[in-house]
Amino acid sequence: MGRLYTETISTRKIMRPDAEIHRERRMDLSGELARTLLELSPDATVVVDAGGTVVFANAQVEHLFGYRAAEIVGLSIETLLPERFHKAHPKHRERFAAQPKPRPMGAGLTLFGRHRDGREFPVEISLSPVTATIGLLTVAAVRDATMSRDKERQLIAENRAKSQFIAAASHDLRQPLQTLNLLNHTAQRHASANAPLRALLERQQLALDSMSALLASVLDISKLDAGAVESHPTVCPFEEIFARLRSDFEPQAADKGIGLTIERCTDAALTDPELLRRLLGNLISNGIRYTFVGEVRVACVRRGAKIDIEVRDTGIGIPADQLDRVFDEFYQVDSGAKRPEGLGLGLSIVRRLAQLLRVGIGVESVLGRGTTFRVTVDRAELAHDAELAKAHAQTAGSGRVLIVDDEPAVAEATSLLLELEGYEVSIASSENEAIERASSQSPDLIVSDYQLRGGETGVRVVKAVRDRMHDVVPVIFVTGDTAKAAIVDAKIANATLLNKPVRADDLVAAVRETLATRRRSVAG
Ligand code: ADP
Repeated sequence: MGRLYTETISTRKIMRPDAEIHRERRMDLSGELARTLLELSPDATVVVDAGGTVVFANAQVEHLFGYRAAEIVGLSIETLLPERFHKAHPKHRERFAAQPKPRPMGAGLTLFGRHRDGREFPVEISLSPVTATIGLLTVAAVRDATMSRDKERQLIAENRAKSQFIAAASHDLRQPLQTLNLLNHTAQRHASANAPLRALLERQQLALDSMSALLASVLDISKLDAGAVESHPTVCPFEEIFARLRSDFEPQAADKGIGLTIERCTDAALTDPELLRRLLGNLISNGIRYTFVGEVRVACVRRGAKIDIEVRDTGIGIPADQLDRVFDEFYQVDSGAKRPEGLGLGLSIVRRLAQLLRVGIGVESVLGRGTTFRVTVDRAELAHDAELAKAHAQTAGSGRVLIVDDEPAVAEATSLLLELEGYEVSIASSENEAIERASSQSPDLIVSDYQLRGGETGVRVVKAVRDRMHDVVPVIFVTGDTAKAAIVDAKIANATLLNKPVRADDLVAAVRETLATRRRSVAG
């Protein structure tokens, strides 16, 4: 190949000042062939010498750049580039000359060419070095990328539209599925005396559960792909995320008889806490699913400006040859041995979340011994740490909060969150418990769920506590859409409504604000 080009070039030496050396050379068969091949190439092809001078150009160059071959030969290659690249380009050439091997130019970057009329256009360029008698030559094949970029944009738009369609469809499918779930539960109750029918309905419930899980994952993926999920990075102490993960997953691990340890971490990350929690939640849930003896352990390891969050399990492991495929959609490891059934979507959600958060993710595993997933996030810088401490000191909570919720996991997580903020917290799951807690320690604020067990409601509990204390203690209701109307109808004074699922930041902000208002009104 090198020889072909060399011979071709030598036939064009008449354009170069040192042409005498080569003038006598007769164009042999290989030179003719090379020249023909270059002319036939669909790409605009230029050959450039070590000094950046064009020594050959095929006919396509005129088509793409507007210069006839005879015009461009002898000129600098920079002639074909937009002016803003003229200064830097010789350095790129030098770098190529230092390590001459065939490669695409500017991998991952958008490159531009400049037409004779001044117009710029995107190009793709591949470079090949050729050693000739006059030194190192570079063959550059240039292709107009305008079309492929338009095509790429069109494909991205089409893909997004498709993801939006799937997101809308799976969202709408949740409603009938929810109805089916309720109907099935009711049918199960009525069938309590009919064992065969009950068994059938239980199997139906399992199918409904898998459908719900699949739908939730597909909805997650399509929302992420449709660009409907945004990352809002903040300085976020790991403990805020970890506290929630502990209360979400400890019961699951305990049910399975394995340990779950999420080590304490005093650092903070610069990230979106909700999305990072979802990402880690997927990894922990996998760890629990694929571990039968031992434990799942989450720990933070500082690495300069970064922090590695390691999710390590002592489970069944992943075969080395399948490690790089586990993040693919619907990929489930096949190791011959019996593995628990999943959907094969958890890690593809993890991959998308990692991309959205711009965090690194890696995995290592030893079959039969265990697996470690490593998520690398930006540590909140020291300046941030100091700001965080200052902000904390200024706004650190003081006050007593009574949490009314009959879901222990939710109550526990809310309590941990508010304790971390510096509040004194007590928990009640019913009216009686709430009155008891309020009597031993009068709350400055109540954070309450609406629907409680035994037909009790948050509204009723708040009224009872206020009556007992002879004080209109402020209340924050954390509710779903359906309960909102009931609370509004109850015309509860001094109440704030937050929508479920509530973001930790929003809850803390509401608590802080409500207590500040109360303090002002008491002082006034
Ligand atoms: P699934 O719903 O099947 O768990 P994932 O996308 O979460 O789907 O994971 C893909 C595959 O990777 C799983 O089928 C499982 O075999 C394997 N895998 C994921 N996490 C672990 C782990 N901690 N230990 C062993 N295998 C795992």
